[in-house]
Amino acid sequence: MSDSYRPYTPQKPPVRCIKCFDTSVILSEAKHPDTGRLFWRFTCLDCRIAWPQDQHGGAPDEYE
Ligand SMILES: [Zn+2]
Repeated sequence: MSDSYRPYTPQKPPVRCIKCFDTSVILSEAKHPDTGRLFWRFTCLDCRIAWPQDQHGGAPDEYE
């Protein structure tokens, strides 16, 4: 299993998509466009929006 991907196991409270509020999100590693550093982010499987893990509950932020 790659270190750059891992299934996200819902915790309490469950992480929901910041757009559609579905709980079908995954946690994956990505490179930050500004710093170039790897960080973990959530990605919604429905609307493909992604947002940094440490911004959970914050503003939407797409890094595609
Ligand atoms: Zn969504």
